[in-house]
Amino acid sequence: MTRSRARALLGLHAFQFLLVLPTTVIVAVVLASGAVGMDHPSVNFGTVFTWVVWWGTLLVSFVILGRAWCLVCPLGAIGEWVQRLSLWWRSSAGAGLGLRWPKRLRNLWPATALFVVFIFLDNAYGMSNSPRLTAGLIAVLALGAAWVDFVFERRAFCRYVCPLTAFIGLNALVSAFELRGRDPDVCRDRCATKDCFRGNRRHWGCPMSEFPGGAMDTNLYCILCTECVKSCPHGNIALRWRPPGRDLWAMRKPRTDGAFAAVIVLALATVVPFVMVAFLPRARSVLSGLLPAGTPPNDPPRLVAAALLFAIGAGATLGLVWIWSCLSRAAAGDRTVATRTLFTRYAYALIPIGLSKFLVDLLDHALRTWGALSDVTRALLLDFPLNRVMPDRLTVVHLLAPTSVYVLQVALLLAGLVLSLNAMHRISLRVSRDHRAAFASFLPMAGLALVLSLVSIWTLGMGLV
Ligand code: SF4
Ligand code: SF4
Repeated sequence: MTRSRARALLGLHAFQFLLVLPTTVIVAVVLASGAVGMDHPSVNFGTVFTWVVWWGTLLVSFVILGRAWCLVCPLGAIGEWVQRLSLWWRSSAGAGLGLRWPKRLRNLWPATALFVVFIFLDNAYGMSNSPRLTAGLIAVLALGAAWVDFVFERRAFCRYVCPLTAFIGLNALVSAFELRGRDPDVCRDRCATKDCFRGNRRHWGCPMSEFPGGAMDTNLYCILCTECVKSCPHGNIALRWRPPGRDLWAMRKPRTDGAFAAVIVLALATVVPFVMVAFLPRARSVLSGLLPAGTPPNDPPRLVAAALLFAIGAGATLGLVWIWSCLSRAAAGDRTVATRTLFTRYAYALIPIGLSKFLVDLLDHALRTWGALSDVTRALLLDFPLNRVMPDRLTVVHLLAPTSVYVLQVALLLAGLVLSLNAMHRISLRVSRDHRAAFASFLPMAGLALVLSLVSIWTLGMGLV
């Protein structure tokens, strides 16, 4: 596609709506089949589609296109349609109350807490193995988005509430694509209206409350809706390639809430699975002497053991990154750089290690369950959209032997480690001007990154035993 055609496509008023429309239909089918279809995860279209196709596409998209899922997500779009009373056109009167989001909550803390709850529900109650819970989750998110965006201005739900926003936004920093202002001088000296943020008579301002012509210097919140491409009167917004992960080291003001969220996402990918594999059976048997037993998933000893191990895994990861930031500071010998600064900077550099672990978990899942996709689609078509028919046989396709999958997984984890080390090295040069001090600051954190990757390699290897 030529550059001018691509620009014309991005400039279409209904660009986002045309992309959201098919995903809205698919999510409606997923919802129906999850709610009333076969209550079995392997033969239900809703669970297979959500946890293999959607989750897989989401993880892979981070690497190339950042928050591209948010561009086509119907849940966020529903909130926006309710608020604006329009599908894409600029309407003068909407239904929303347009309140400003509370100042104290303009951060990633609530979304990080909700992401922990989301992952815990999956681990404790097997959400991804339950069509009903999967449908319930989608319904709750859709209603939540509609309500929050009805009360508050712009996409408050997508920016501050969605349980996936911290996870998606932080991983989008790794992307090889970015949307930014082209020429800062034009924005500063020749643009009085700042339409990319405020909007104008024909176009909306940024729905994510970002200012792409100014303060926005990362992919954290940009959902690639292209509204600013259309609203900028100077054609000064560009979608361009960049070195993958550039935001990790080049962001101007890394924030503590983002750094904390980055470490929590890292913990949920690496240390928490390790702790669960190593200690869950023992912790459960200790607690079964103290608590009444139940039937899974409502088994109090198992639920309490999982909650405790989650807290221990997350706390241990935060502690490790903090202690290694102290070591980094001591090794560099630069008293002018605070430990908190190093923690905040280096936490972002650890993101590729968590992302690669999420990707390798998916790889194993997809290579085993990919064959089920045609079975569930066949089952769905036989009884559309209720999906109450069991296919006569289920295909289990092992596309690769477990050891070959393991080799691929290790290679992917090492790629994440390399990306992380590259970001750490560049950060160390930003934090310390002196090259020797920068290298001394880099070494301890590089050691921690290596240990975390080895923890993941060990945890995956346990599945082979
Ligand atoms: S509207 Fe365009 S020129 Fe003006 S600040 Fe935004 S990106 Fe820059
Ligand atoms: S910066 Fe532009 S593309 Fe990104 S969310 Fe805002 S309006 Fe959409």
